[in-house]
Amino acid sequence: MAQRIAVFPGSFDPVTNGHIDILNRSLPLFDRIIIAIGVNAQKQNLFSTEVRLNWLKELYGQNEKISVLSYTGLTADFCRQHEARYILRGLRNTTDFEYEKTIALLNRSMDSTLETIFMMTAPEYGHIHSSVVRELIRYKGKFDHLVPDCVSRTAAER
Ligand code: ADP
Repeated sequence: MAQRIAVFPGSFDPVTNGHIDILNRSLPLFDRIIIAIGVNAQKQNLFSTEVRLNWLKELYGQNEKISVLSYTGLTADFCRQHEARYILRGLRNTTDFEYEKTIALLNRSMDSTLETIFMMTAPEYGHIHSSVVRELIRYKGKFDHLVPDCVSRTAAER
């Protein structure tokens, strides 16, 4: 049987407890998950691609079912290159849903064999957005309870 390979694409700027929850709950569904940091030159990130890769490798480097990569270009092309037939995305609310629906249908229109799998956030993580964490880091708010320790450590060094 073909391996069930999923790509979990995102900015992970920074990775949060919400991302980690989606990943951990999705692991039993797939043979492999590739965490894929999308690199977009137009996007102003708070943390470099290298820092974001290092966090995810620290969190998941020991897990043989998970790989961590970065990519440029279309997610659908990246999936094809890695023989992944599933795109994993998390949903927090209807705003996420409307946006994700458009992207999922677009990806499907480019490659009808590519399925987007949505996982609903756990209620305790539904309010966690990387953008909010970035604001808290910028303005020295409390954010340690929203992110893994590796992110807290990097943010403390800034
Ligand atoms: P992007 O810039 O592609 O939205 P993100 O890193 O913000 O990248 O998010 C990657 C994926 O993780 C998206 O599917 C997003 O909906 C999901 N996600 C982010 N935070 C949460 C959370 N708290 N609960 C569930 N899913 C989440």
